[in-house]
Amino acid sequence: KDKTSKAVRQRFLDYFINDNSHHFVRSSPVVPYCDPTVAFVNAGMNQFKGIFLGTQSPAYMRVANSQKCVRVGGKHNDLSIVGADGSHHTFFEMLGNWSFGDYFKREACALAWKLLTDVYKINKKTLYVTYFNGDEKLGLKPDIECKEIWRSIGVDEERILPFGMKDNFWEMGPSGPCGPCTEIHVDQRGFRNRAKFVNKGVHDLNEVWNLVFIQYNRNLNGTIMQLPKGYVDTGMGLERLCAVLQRRLSNYDTDLFLPMFVAIQKICKGIPRYNGVFGEKDWNGLQTSYRILADHTRMLTACLADGMIPEEKACCSQKLRRIMRKAFSVSELSFGKETGLVKELVNYVVESLGGVYVEMEKNINQVRQIIDYEEELYKSLRSTAAIEWSKIVQEQPLLADLEVLEMPGLVTAYKDIKNNNVKEITSSFSFKLYDTYGLDENAISKLSKALNITYDEKLLQKALDLSKNVNRMIDSDEKEGLIKRLKEMKIEPTVDHYKYKYTRKNNTYVF
Ligand code: ATP
Ligand code: MG
Ligand code: MG
Ligand code: MG
Repeated sequence: KDKTSKAVRQRFLDYFINDNSHHFVRSSPVVPYCDPTVAFVNAGMNQFKGIFLGTQSPAYMRVANSQKCVRVGGKHNDLSIVGADGSHHTFFEMLGNWSFGDYFKREACALAWKLLTDVYKINKKTLYVTYFNGDEKLGLKPDIECKEIWRSIGVDEERILPFGMKDNFWEMGPSGPCGPCTEIHVDQRGFRNRAKFVNKGVHDLNEVWNLVFIQYNRNLNGTIMQLPKGYVDTGMGLERLCAVLQRRLSNYDTDLFLPMFVAIQKICKGIPRYNGVFGEKDWNGLQTSYRILADHTRMLTACLADGMIPEEKACCSQKLRRIMRKAFSVSELSFGKETGLVKELVNYVVESLGGVYVEMEKNINQVRQIIDYEEELYKSLRSTAAIEWSKIVQEQPLLADLEVLEMPGLVTAYKDIKNNNVKEITSSFSFKLYDTYGLDENAISKLSKALNITYDEKLLQKALDLSKNVNRMIDSDEKEGLIKRLKEMKIEPTVDHYKYKYTRKNNTYVF
């Protein structure tokens, strides 16, 4: 049977849509179009949030899709481990099915089990499932129903494991819809590792699918109430599923990434090829660089194709720009390619994903143009910034570990403080450091320590949260209210961060 990522994705959709009467909903853009609380869409459920909150009624009771997801900030920030492990990416595809008050736990588990074991033919003996074991403080009972369901489906008792709040209870936020979940993990011992030994970064047991049962609502005062009807919300990482089906220990050893590695090696003549090792075995970091570059290029392509634009005065798209600059610096420092590598790799991302996410194919030229422009800008900023920064670091050795190549704004920020004899970082000045100069919270705190100026971390955080929200909102009364509060804090909100290049029609996005 066909085990390519394309076939695996399609089989998932066919199974739910054709065989089990779900309705197909296109992936939303990774830009959170209708959710001001996240910087990027980070799960399949984001576009259905209104349904769980009760503000939107579902057009279909059963829905399935494959959603483009980005996890580089907020609650799910996987950026720091990208490249160091084989299963977390900044960008990934989440396959999901939903029941908006139609079927519940029993059918959700049965559907998932049948797909994995009958359709994908994964050996039952390699699967583990988990269930929620309750929380006394919150008065939540163990999800024995879920445990029983798995047993009745035929899962061996010793492979049904209980876990607590952290792993098996899902909440949207401090209040709102929530509920227990059950996760399906695969024992990957026996899978082939291209490096022929198990090492840091690849795990024996890997979570592939998370099934959430939204059955409670948490009130503002913390108490939890049963909802009249339960919802099912599931998400399975396509890259991890492909690794399992292609019998590889790391997602990077699947057809979603290998063609990119081959391309990198071909374009940058003379470098060793990708061999899949992690940790200490990757003695010069080249293998990790391969993974980071491929991962980041996929993320950039997805974001840029969805209309996100890295702008000078945009705190959210600063993340996008940082990731872009990381990709440029890896191209140069690890692969010796001064320009054009990232832009070239975009073609391979589009070749692999453009058929599914047509916006990538449609906007490929624009994506390549923006990358070109950003690379040029980065190079020119960098050459001057690096020289100036090295002088500054001689005066202020405490600043030595800040990455000026990824944050060229450090130089101007430093000068601003010195020239204007800044004695205290007020909330509006710290916002300027963040928004205009592109510094992150860590850099702001280091600067203030090194220069011995006071700053209020809490105040900064409040200002940043407010302004992040404002910039992600579509015009509304709520937005006006936030802008007013910002102005009271003497912070001038910047222009909208995201330029929406699409309109919304019946739950799909058209460019
Ligand atoms: P993990 O515990 O491995 O970090 P998670 O519990 O944070 O995963 P969920 O929020 O449950 O993940 O998301 C559903 C599924 O999406 C996961 O079971 C996994 O297959 C996939 N997934 C989550 N995060 C990533 C990521 N950063 N890269 C690739 N796939 C991911
Ligand atoms: Mg996670
Ligand atoms: Mg998990
Ligand atoms: Mg999970």
